[in-house]
Amino acid sequence: MQIPMVDLKIQYRQLQAEIDEAVRNVLESAYFIMGPQGTSFEEEIAAYLGVKHAIGVASGTDALHLALRATGLGPGDEVITTPFTFIATAEAIAYVGATPVFVDIDPATFNIDVEQVAAAITPATRAVLPVHLFGQPADLEPLKKICLDNDLLLVEDCAQSCGARYGDKMTGALGDLGCYSFFPSKNLGCFGDGGLVVTNSDDLAAQVRTLRNHGSRERYHHSIIGYNSRLDDLQAAILRVKLKHLDRFNQQRRENAHRYSSKLSELGITVPFEDGKGTHVYHQYTVLMDQREAVQKALAAEGIASAIYYPIPLHQQEVFQQQCRGTSLPVSERVAEQCLSLPIYPELTAAQVDRIVETIAPVVQG
Ligand SMILES: *Cc1c(COP(=O)(O)O)cnc(C)c1O
Repeated sequence: MQIPMVDLKIQYRQLQAEIDEAVRNVLESAYFIMGPQGTSFEEEIAAYLGVKHAIGVASGTDALHLALRATGLGPGDEVITTPFTFIATAEAIAYVGATPVFVDIDPATFNIDVEQVAAAITPATRAVLPVHLFGQPADLEPLKKICLDNDLLLVEDCAQSCGARYGDKMTGALGDLGCYSFFPSKNLGCFGDGGLVVTNSDDLAAQVRTLRNHGSRERYHHSIIGYNSRLDDLQAAILRVKLKHLDRFNQQRRENAHRYSSKLSELGITVPFEDGKGTHVYHQYTVLMDQREAVQKALAAEGIASAIYYPIPLHQQEVFQQQCRGTSLPVSERVAEQCLSLPIYPELTAAQVDRIVETIAPVVQG
């Protein structure tokens, strides 16, 4: 029996009756773009996340792009972010012509190191863009304080943290803007591309709404150059069904993670650290080990998938060499060499977790 990184078929089968009906209703309504499903989803997820505004867009990458675009950031502006993330975080900064400034990560949580953020502020700094990596919120309270003290925007990359709390707030609700992705494998995933920008600011919300729809507030009146970046009604209808189950899915991810951790820590493997400031929703379950290659080989021989998120920190990517050559961020570099993500999804069974641990054990025990 193969164990993939994520099994989207099981979840579809579980929710098939509800999803098929929702899809059929959209098909029959023939209302596909900027229709009632999109509006209802925006209202429901705004309530779930505890934010004033939620604006559906075409992807998580677009959510980041339009959020930064809405703030007016541009050439000459610096945005402090983490190098240990998916490329889209930094791409969005580059899209608006601003410069990503990478600072190192905390070795325990893999999230941006708050002290290094403070140390990297220059007169050109305009924003801080933390990522809630693997589903654990970055340390938002001190980040927020740094931003308030230095008149910086706080923009959260929540692509991996849907349903996670920091204190009593959901991620995305503390920053000026929060950006979600509904890529199929994310904790809340649709059946294609989708994304969301959340904010409590009326002005920023209006700006993102205008940007996502060709710079138009009123049909055929264009006040700015915008984009075609909307969440379509089919995806919104599917997301409305899945949102109702999200907390249960995240709880199942957490239970699987805790089962892994209690067993893998006994083998001397560095398991994910929960900092206790919120909930970790385990978009990925990522451990550190020296024997990564041998473990991956043993897992593959048993038909068990594993993955390296992320093998090359962004400051070492070819695309950023002109700017980052010579930059040393040793924690990110070490974690990139030792990290291994194991299958984690709500429907993964305890027996499967045990089988994965049993496959790893002989390798690390030598
Ligand atoms: C998935 C992801 C994105 C991009 O989302 P898409 O919907 O694929 O465009 C951005 N940032 C992070 C951290 C992600 O994991």
